[in-house]
Amino acid sequence: MICCPVCDGKDVFPFLSRDDVPVHQNLLCESEASARAVNTGRLQMTVCATCSFVFNAAFDLSRLSYGEGYNNCQTHSPYFEAYVSDLTRGLVEESGVRNALIVEVGCGSGDFLRGLVNYPDSGNRGIGFDPAYTGAATELNGKLRFVKEYYGPEHASLAADVVVSRHVIEHVPQPIPLLQSLAKALSGSSQAKVFFETPNVDWILSNQVVWDFFYEHCSLFNVRSIAYAFERASFPPKQTKLVFGEQYLWFEAALNGTKTSPAAGADTVALAQAFGRNYEANMKRAKQTLEALARKGKVALWGAGAKGTTFASIIDADKTLIDCLIDLNPDKQSKYVPGTGHAIVSPKEIGVRGVKHAILMNPNYAAECRALLAGMKSDCELVMWS
Ligand SMILES: [Zn+2]
Repeated sequence: MICCPVCDGKDVFPFLSRDDVPVHQNLLCESEASARAVNTGRLQMTVCATCSFVFNAAFDLSRLSYGEGYNNCQTHSPYFEAYVSDLTRGLVEESGVRNALIVEVGCGSGDFLRGLVNYPDSGNRGIGFDPAYTGAATELNGKLRFVKEYYGPEHASLAADVVVSRHVIEHVPQPIPLLQSLAKALSGSSQAKVFFETPNVDWILSNQVVWDFFYEHCSLFNVRSIAYAFERASFPPKQTKLVFGEQYLWFEAALNGTKTSPAAGADTVALAQAFGRNYEANMKRAKQTLEALARKGKVALWGAGAKGTTFASIIDADKTLIDCLIDLNPDKQSKYVPGTGHAIVSPKEIGVRGVKHAILMNPNYAAECRALLAGMKSDCELVMWS
């Protein structure tokens, strides 16, 4: 019997099943052979009728390895950099994150935390926790530190004023123990503010974005389920906002905050059922569109993040329609897509390879991709997918 990991509810409905999906979307693969040899797993996306949480009921954490070679850095895109710098400004100027000890849970390379500490006259200090962190242990005369561990109750003596965690909780199959552990870690700092960012599953379902369901994201929230999950772990929600073109949730809570009613969400079960009903037709339409483009010349996908690598694996597993994936991140260029082994290239190679059409995987990047193509005087046509 499958129960909802957030509310323990038993009214849960599977709406999307796929076998043999690559377990990693952001792994750097050095060769086509190693890319094709990555672990696979089963996707059984399931929605809870009680709290709206969406989860992969067939998820197996032991199949993943978030170690060396994992790279989901998006900071090479001007649009994304502007988004993050806006987020930093909002935290300092509007949410009053000043003269604070900030803990970041899952800090990655530490760029976001560095921005909060470096913000002019903010007086902030930061400690980033991430088992996969690889840089220096201290920076900025000790105002910024990094710990290669998970953050938990053993760090309660730190007395954090603010905890930030971006794009971590969707990778965690049991979110409630994670949040309860966070509450214990903050037992010595009862006034601490907590900020989380995670994908908004209602956006994926409403827009029927088939390639936004992939193995790494085993736990997906909407405005209702995230509020419920935090309340259950003793963090009454303070505010939820839809950000990044409504693709992400930005969620604020405080340990002893006032309880508020969660905002009304879309009917996630109905959305999920519609998604499931339309899945085959959407796949067929995507394949036909791709085949029509491929008849006119070489086709690329723009964006080798999770969306692009998932699209490639479900629409072109045998590598007959897509020539390559384009990505601005130099670490990804000259590498291969986990699962299918498609080449990942720099935009500079569009002309050399003779790519006629590039399908944009995330509509948020349309303006900057168009500008880049115009700057290169490329005749490659950008195709919007919707
Ligand atoms: Zn539930």
